Order: sequence, then structure tokens, then C-alpha cells
Amino acid sequence: MSPPYGSRLAGKVAVITGAGSGIGLESSVLFASEGAQVVCADINDKGAAATVEKITSLFGKGRAVSIRADVSKEEDVKKMIHLAVSEFGKINVLFNNAGIMHPADDNALTTTEDIWDLTMKINVKGVWWGCKYAIEEMRKTGGGSIINTASFVALRGAATPQLAYTASKGAVLAMTRELAVVHAKENIRFNALCPGPLRTPLLMEFLNTDEKKNRRLVHVPMGRFGEAIEQAKAALFLASDDSSYMTGTDFVVDGGLCSAYVTPE
Ligand code: NAD
Repeated sequence: MSPPYGSRLAGKVAVITGAGSGIGLESSVLFASEGAQVVCADINDKGAAATVEKITSLFGKGRAVSIRADVSKEEDVKKMIHLAVSEFGKINVLFNNAGIMHPADDNALTTTEDIWDLTMKINVKGVWWGCKYAIEEMRKTGGGSIINTASFVALRGAATPQLAYTASKGAVLAMTRELAVVHAKENIRFNALCPGPLRTPLLMEFLNTDEKKNRRLVHVPMGRFGEAIEQAKAALFLASDDSSYMTGTDFVVDGGLCSAYVTPE
């Protein structure tokens, strides 16, 4: 990333979960480049610390801190939100981005209860905890923007099932919509980001053969997987005042996937 940097998040404090990889990593760096101070949270503390190092090397000290937080644990999430306040004085933006797609997640008959519960704990309950503690803090400063990462699979059924993951992302959409309505007059905006299939570790480790990759790519009009930075740019828009009249949306960034019936040869 090279100067000049922008100022779309100047003076704002952002907390990003899953900040050690993929969308979370790119968003942390992009948000910092636009003037935000960032709390980089991840269950992988080394990954989160590496993101902070990257931000520090690009933009100097005092722009970011890291914390090991498992979003499925209420105490961890509480500490993560409170770190933003103790370190940077407030929280303006929360990007609830951490999520898992378990390799053993499959169809209704083969998915086991422990995989179902683990997926729901991280992908759904983790988003709830984040919202809960961020709302408390955002009320004190007159509002904020919360972005919850869902997925295109919450909008379209797939014949390549991951039932728990799909159900969890549908729950994220429904939860985000209701939160948006409940807190609209408090100036706390909630929007769901719905990425298409991406070239990040999460999906590439799952689609570990060309055959599996192509089974998906045929449904993407653009004919390629998305990049994490393309989601980070959408998250930046939702985080910033550029989207000040938007709340409760399913913000789809998917290479045209959800609009397609037949895709180009
Ligand atoms: P990624 O695997 O590159 O990064 C996810 C990060 O979340 C990792 O650093 C991981 O350590 C962290 N994480 C996992 N469990 C956690 C927990 N319990 N607490 C805190 N952190 C945890 O994945 P990505 O592709 O950047 O995915 C980010 C989000 O985007 C996820 O919610 C995912 O479901 C969603 N998404 C991804 C795709 C895709 O194709 N990659 C498509 C749609 C939606």
C-alpha cells in the first residue's frame, strides 16, 4: 500500500474480529490507512499480532493493538470491546468478521451435533456478543457502525451442502436486520456483508482440488474467486459515513453470483 492515504475513518476507532487472516487482515490494514485506530482481534494471537506489526510498519506506532479473543466466549468479547475504550477512548466501528467453515460440516444426515454447535457458537453467538458490548459503548458516544459478515450462502441454496454454516449465516442476516431496526434511532447502524466465494484460506483449504473449485466457479459470472481486499473495501464503505443512510442491508459483494441464472461460457 502506498501513500497518499485516505481519511474516510479519520478519528474513528474500529474493532475487527478475525483480524489475523483474509478479510479481517485486509480490512484492518485498509481501515488504518483511512485514519482509524484499530483493535485487531483473533483467536490466533500470532496472526492478530502480525497484522498490528504490518499496520505499524506502514503507518507508525499507536494505530493498532492486538488481542487474543475467541468470539464464542462472552468474557473474551467483553475484554476486546473494552480494550478499544481503554486504549483509544471509544469504539465507532465493529466489524464482526470472524467465522468458521468446518471441513466436517456437510448435509443434514452427516453433519454431527458437535460441528453444528461449534459453528453456531462462533458464527452466530460470537456476532451477538460483539453487538451486545459494542451497543453499550456506542450509546455513550452517540452511535456507530456495526458490520456483520454473513455470506451469499445465506441468500442462495447450494447443492454442495454445509448445512450448519449456511444456517449460521442466515441467522447473521436475520439478527443484523432486527438489530438495525431496534437501534436505528440511536444512530447505531447494522449492515450485513455477504461475500461471494473468495480466494482466502477459509475457502481454499476447503476446496482443495481443481474439481471442487470449478464446481463453484461455473456459477460465478465473473469466472473468478473474489479477493479479501474487495470485501475490505465494501466493509470500509459500510464502516464510514459514506453509508450514513444505510442500515439493515444485505450488502452483496459476489462477482454477480446471486444475480445469475446462466453464466457466460
Ligand atoms: P480466514 O479463514 O482467512 O480468516 C478467518 C479468521 O477468523 C482467522 O484468522 C481465524 O483465526 C479467525 N477465527 C476463527 N475462529 C475464531 C474465533 N472463534 N474467534 C476469533 N477469531 C476466530 O477467512 P475469511 O475468508 O477471511 O472469512 C472471514 C469471514 O468471511 C467469515 O465469517 C466467513 O464465514 C466469511 N465468508 C467467507 C467467504 C469465503 O469464500 N472465504 C465467503 C463468504 C463469507
